[in-house]
Amino acid sequence: MKYFSLNNRSHYSNFENAVVRGLAPDKGLYFPEEVVKLPNSFFHSLEKLDKTEVGFEVIKNYVGDEIPDAALIDIVEQTLYFEFPVVRINDHIGSLELFHGPTLAFKDVGARFMAESLGYFIKKGNLGKITVLVATSGDTGGAVAHGFLDVDGIDVVILYPKGKVSEIQEKQLTTLGKNITALEVDGVFDDCQQMVKQAFLDTEITDHRRLTSANSINIARWLPQMFYYFLAYKQLKELNRKLVFSVPSGNFGNICAGLLAREMGLPIDHFVAANNANDTVTNYLDTEAYRPKPSVATISNAMDVGDPSNFVRILQLFGHDHLMVKKVLSAYSFDDASTKKAIKEVHNVTGYILDPHGAVGYLGLKRFLESHKDYHGTFLETAHPVKFLDTVEEVIGDKVNIPDSIKGLMHKQKKSLQIRSYADLKGYLLEK
Ligand SMILES: *Cc1c(COP(=O)(O)O)cnc(C)c1O
Repeated sequence: MKYFSLNNRSHYSNFENAVVRGLAPDKGLYFPEEVVKLPNSFFHSLEKLDKTEVGFEVIKNYVGDEIPDAALIDIVEQTLYFEFPVVRINDHIGSLELFHGPTLAFKDVGARFMAESLGYFIKKGNLGKITVLVATSGDTGGAVAHGFLDVDGIDVVILYPKGKVSEIQEKQLTTLGKNITALEVDGVFDDCQQMVKQAFLDTEITDHRRLTSANSINIARWLPQMFYYFLAYKQLKELNRKLVFSVPSGNFGNICAGLLAREMGLPIDHFVAANNANDTVTNYLDTEAYRPKPSVATISNAMDVGDPSNFVRILQLFGHDHLMVKKVLSAYSFDDASTKKAIKEVHNVTGYILDPHGAVGYLGLKRFLESHKDYHGTFLETAHPVKFLDTVEEVIGDKVNIPDSIKGLMHKQKKSLQIRSYADLKGYLLEK
């Protein structure tokens, strides 16, 4: 499979180079030259396949012969070792729980697949050592740290804003040690992001060590997100209903993977992009005008994005045709007050505890189902409520059970290096 840059159709890359680079040299996002159609026989026999077999069939044509089948099967198995249940909320709505991985958020899937793929290419021998440099506002850092832990040939350096991530998120970033270093930046997320960008452009650093980014536009994070739409369909197939999926969206990588899965033949009829107050895409669908704007802070902060990077991939999928986009995709936006109300109501009526991101997904789904009663709806629960403990416990007026898998984490010792300026970051990267 070849990948082209969305800024210039004549710039091509193979899978390995696109994974190592992240972005094309002209800063365009990579996009597969061809959307692979899966045969009907695959969907007919889906219930007979296990998670790894499903994932392998979905991804193999996008990787081609650059990773041999046996190694790719192993990578998919390492990626999908946890569960992806669709939990019934009522007769018409299910929650696809994507939080059973090591850092309790869906980003584990993309981060693990990318780490394993990059690890494979390093082992093959022609890349040398690589430093993954990433800025995080919370969820990305933990997923990347856990995904890349102990992967030979890779050092991970994570910048996070001091005092701006939740306690659990900080522990997930700072307690692993080994090849993972956490830099605690005296500033906000934008400062971290800015320093990372500057480092990539600084030849004194890039001459000294090979840098790569692990952010969500990398194809090795984007494409494997398709897996769980197929795994959800496997659980919903016997309902024999028209299916709609609602995806709480920020940078739109997750929903764009779902839309690609649909183009590959997965029988999901419609998608809802559920937004918080950052409503750039909701406005685009209403008005046909795409007007990026600065992000605003909300309680579903992983979706506080005013200019979603993956939106161009959605336009590409639908040939830049606004009517085609609208046929398959709806978008709605909800404020924090509605989000809290949804968490409270669902908890009161069913006992199920939503996190603020899943709650926005739930609201988007309910809005769509009001005028489409013949559908069965699934929303993506993208993080465990415990990651947003303060908000959730305040709203439901009750305690959230801490999953066993992270109980030990809270007692681990935080290890981070404090940095104040770009010079500090540069000093660290040059010295090591
Ligand atoms: C990153 C994240 C999102 C947004 O996903 P995108 O792929 O950027 O649209 C939603 N929910 C949670 C919990 C996240 O961490």
